[in-house]
Amino acid sequence: MTPKVARYLAAHQPATPCLVLDVDRVEENFRRLQAALPLARIYYAVKANPAAPILERLVRLGSFFDAASWPEVRMCLDAGARPEAISYGNTIKKERDIAAAYAAGVRMFAFDSEAELMKLARSAPGARVYCRILVGNDGAEWPLSRKFGCEVEMARALMLKAGELGLDPYGLSFHVGSQQTRTAAYEAAIAKVAMLFTDLTEAGVKLRMVNLGGGYPVRYKAEVPEIDDFGAAIMGAMAEHFGNALPEIVIEPGRFLVADAGVVQSEVVLVSRKGEDDPVRWVYLDIGRFGGLAETEGEAIKYAFRTPHDGTDEGPVTIAGPSCDSTDTLYEKSHYRLPLALRDGDKVEMLATGAYVTTYASQSFNGFAPLAEHYI
Ligand SMILES: *Cc1c(COP(=O)(O)O)cnc(C)c1O
Repeated sequence: MTPKVARYLAAHQPATPCLVLDVDRVEENFRRLQAALPLARIYYAVKANPAAPILERLVRLGSFFDAASWPEVRMCLDAGARPEAISYGNTIKKERDIAAAYAAGVRMFAFDSEAELMKLARSAPGARVYCRILVGNDGAEWPLSRKFGCEVEMARALMLKAGELGLDPYGLSFHVGSQQTRTAAYEAAIAKVAMLFTDLTEAGVKLRMVNLGGGYPVRYKAEVPEIDDFGAAIMGAMAEHFGNALPEIVIEPGRFLVADAGVVQSEVVLVSRKGEDDPVRWVYLDIGRFGGLAETEGEAIKYAFRTPHDGTDEGPVTIAGPSCDSTDTLYEKSHYRLPLALRDGDKVEMLATGAYVTTYASQSFNGFAPLAEHYI
């Protein structure tokens, strides 16, 4: 938690549950990432947290933006982004949304299938397009399975076709999965993309760009490698495979820029046991899966907690949300421990919750209002 967030919580005592996010920290993270990968252009993955104060700060810093939808394109434009700085990176788009983005001046689009390429040819003529290839997601705590990307052979054929359709075959992309804890995942993906890049260049398609996607991890409960380790591994692999004919390098960080800038504060609603001798206490918070903590699904993302009793004796707990839905249990198998002194009414903080939380909050499930947000 940054000192600014701590001061805000102490001074304002905002109603819980709420997210308090320090926008200065986003700027620091942007600069750290720039320092780790100075040759890369940063396209912020807006879906991680599309709040206007974040987008506006990133516009001032000269960031580019990766938008997942037409409304996200609009949010970037409203925050002052130039349309040339926006990539419409979702491979699944309605054709009318492609047309709307194109009319607004967006000229960079992702695809991973022939049907999507045809939509782009019709509704974004002449635009720069890049094909997303399937790569391994091992090591990612929030993997993406096979939903996005296509096999290399198909990508090859589609990039050839893109040129024939009057589009600009700009480059290739991949995404190694979110909260990727292994630098080797990027090295393997770069090797794969480089082979296709070279192959297409020999076939007469002059690609210029490689998009390494997002995935750069942040510290939750467990340590992760430093961003400089990812930078070094990535640039090592780029140099190994491209020599001194380096293409333009694009990265699409989401989580890395915003997660540790934010803290969710919650109130303990109930601490109970299921039997007199049961060693495990159930701790029910006023935020749960439907209040925005969607990434606790499968206990994939393990947030760290702060309580007013830290440093005193702890015992095992199961942590759950407030709604009348049994899937609204956050951590049952991950061996969380919290102070024995914890009781209802205590405020607890969940650290590094600035990414993938606010927009996942349900509208009013069980009557609970969506998560309140404070950008400072
Ligand atoms: C979600 C997403 C990102 C951002 O991923 P993070 O793990 O938050 O860095 C980047 N690129 C694409 C295509 C995505 O879908």
